[in-house]
Amino acid sequence: MFKALVLNQEEKKTIATIEQLDDSHLPEGDVLIDVDYSSLNYKDGLAITGKGKIIRNFPMVPGIDLAGTVVSSEDARYQAGDKVVLTGWGVGENHWGGMAQRARLKADWLVPLPTGFDSKKAMMVGTAGFTAMLCVQALLDAGIKPEAGEILVTGASGGVGSVAVTLLAQLGYKVTAVTGRVEQNGPLLEKLGASRIIDRSEFEEPARPLEKQVWAGAVDTVGSKVLAKVLAQMDYNSAVAACGLAGGFDLPTTVMPFILRNVRLQGVDSVMCPTDKRIAAWEKLVELLPESFYEQACTEVELDAAPKYAEDITNGQVTGRVVIKL
Ligand code: NDP
Repeated sequence: MFKALVLNQEEKKTIATIEQLDDSHLPEGDVLIDVDYSSLNYKDGLAITGKGKIIRNFPMVPGIDLAGTVVSSEDARYQAGDKVVLTGWGVGENHWGGMAQRARLKADWLVPLPTGFDSKKAMMVGTAGFTAMLCVQALLDAGIKPEAGEILVTGASGGVGSVAVTLLAQLGYKVTAVTGRVEQNGPLLEKLGASRIIDRSEFEEPARPLEKQVWAGAVDTVGSKVLAKVLAQMDYNSAVAACGLAGGFDLPTTVMPFILRNVRLQGVDSVMCPTDKRIAAWEKLVELLPESFYEQACTEVELDAAPKYAEDITNGQVTGRVVIKL
């Protein structure tokens, strides 16, 4: 028997309960895994609270991330005892996910845990950190060099934002963090490597089509009017990596930054990211994240606490990463 957080729907409301299950309850797949850790992302928050239409088929075990140990495998790439990490691919949305002590998954979705890494650290990174790495990689691919100027990170104290700040600082960029919680999270953001912190309210004013050029690059996790403001302030020939919608999925902008300042807006998706890009991103994360990141920006909780933290993350009250011990 193993413990799982199971979501059901009653009268259009999502109900989350801890249940005792056995392997026969698990969905089909070719690799059986003992889950060591899962993590809590914004999307998990939306799924568990039912605030977002993430899950269409119930019952469902949430958890878009997991790290664990292979129990048995019908795929030659994995053997019992191998350490693996999984993010995305719709796991925790339409295939039972990481918030259970056991999972059965497709081998194609797995990435071997990089050497020198452990399950807990992998989940401190999780989808949020992995997405942050993909955003940073997008800026590197766009040719944005540290000497080009300041890089802006929005939603900076969230899971994606806090890792993006850390990675960019480690790569020698000058990072400016935008947060709605300057007093509460300013000191942490500085420790992670932000050299300047700006209150989010400055980015919530309606943007003019073009404003003073300030940023050489940006990682945006917020979308909506904040991203519109960021675009209006981008330098000539700069790039923005946009991955999130914490502030809304609209984008009230104009074509001016694109056609007069050669600004590039690069979308970033982590869910369907191909495996070779995943392996490269995980290796780079292990190389770049300092030990201090794992000490400063993470909270560990038990599975029973997941629903409470799910509520908190959807209310913008979580700082950094939350990992769930199974
Ligand atoms: P978190 O909730 O951890 O962080 C989001 C941060 O955005 C918050 O910490 C807060 O930062 C800020 N924020 C919250 N509410 C608002 C608001 N109403 N307006 C403006 N800013 C707000 O989420 P994650 O970091 O896990 O994810 C960030 C976004 O990226 C989400 O929209 C998520 O869905 C998306 N995402 C996309 C992925 C992809 O593959 N494209 C993968 C992973 C995440 P602060 O207090 O510092 O302002």
